[in-house]
Amino acid sequence: MPGTCSKRGVRRAARAPAVLLTLPLALGCGTLSVQEEQVLGRQMAGEIRRGLVFLPDRVVERYVREIGEDILAASGPQPFEYRFYVVEDDDINAFAAPAGHIYIHTQTILAAKNVSELAGVIAHEIGHVARRHIAQNYNRQRNMGIGYQAAVLAAAIFGGGAAATAAQLGGGLAAAAYLNSFGREAELEADTFAVETMPRAGYDPNGLVTFFETLQQESGDRPADFLSSHPATADRAQAARAQIAAQPPVEGLEIHDNGRLEIIQRRIELVMGDRPRRY
Ligand SMILES: [Zn+2]
Repeated sequence: MPGTCSKRGVRRAARAPAVLLTLPLALGCGTLSVQEEQVLGRQMAGEIRRGLVFLPDRVVERYVREIGEDILAASGPQPFEYRFYVVEDDDINAFAAPAGHIYIHTQTILAAKNVSELAGVIAHEIGHVARRHIAQNYNRQRNMGIGYQAAVLAAAIFGGGAAATAAQLGGGLAAAAYLNSFGREAELEADTFAVETMPRAGYDPNGLVTFFETLQQESGDRPADFLSSHPATADRAQAARAQIAAQPPVEGLEIHDNGRLEIIQRRIELVMGDRPRRY
């Protein structure tokens, strides 16, 4: 969802080994193939697991996975086997690692006002993977013929934000931050993917629009990482609204899920307790 991975989300990566640094050398030149992306995805998922805390609750995990599977069932054939993870973090954020590893922060689930908003976030992240945005970012770095750290530094200089933090860290989370530094086109394309796919999956695509509004309300004077990305959240909401208006209306789409989201939110609060989770 965000233009970049959470700054706090990458801070713990300091302890993660920078195994990924060797990968560009191990892979051949040219476009990142599906197989190469799978290798990269497995490697990064392992590093991310060591760098973040996953919510230890299978019910919440399953809830997120089922929404993801609904979206995927409406997305046509996919080259990857997607996996969904719930990360304990008090920042509203979500990100995708290569080959369909999708990470949703607990605060994103807590902030969602209904299931269609959460489905919008998940569909957007699937959109980045399905449209090969992550592979494109990886290729961009590789085709520049420079080392991984140098690429992250370049992203920091030109893109600012999380990449700057990531540059100091190394490891899988830093790589995830870099690979999630999407430009305007990619963000809009992922939004478009979400708005197209959500009705086929049974979810009201207005959930994406209202989540943008939720984001703006929740972030207050400290913009969420989503909001600091380009294009501006208001522009994205407007583009999504225009696309929804142009699509044929579908009756009976799900906005609320009969209190299931609220139960899931309560479970998250109980499992996490009062301790802050900001990394
Ligand atoms: Zn995004």
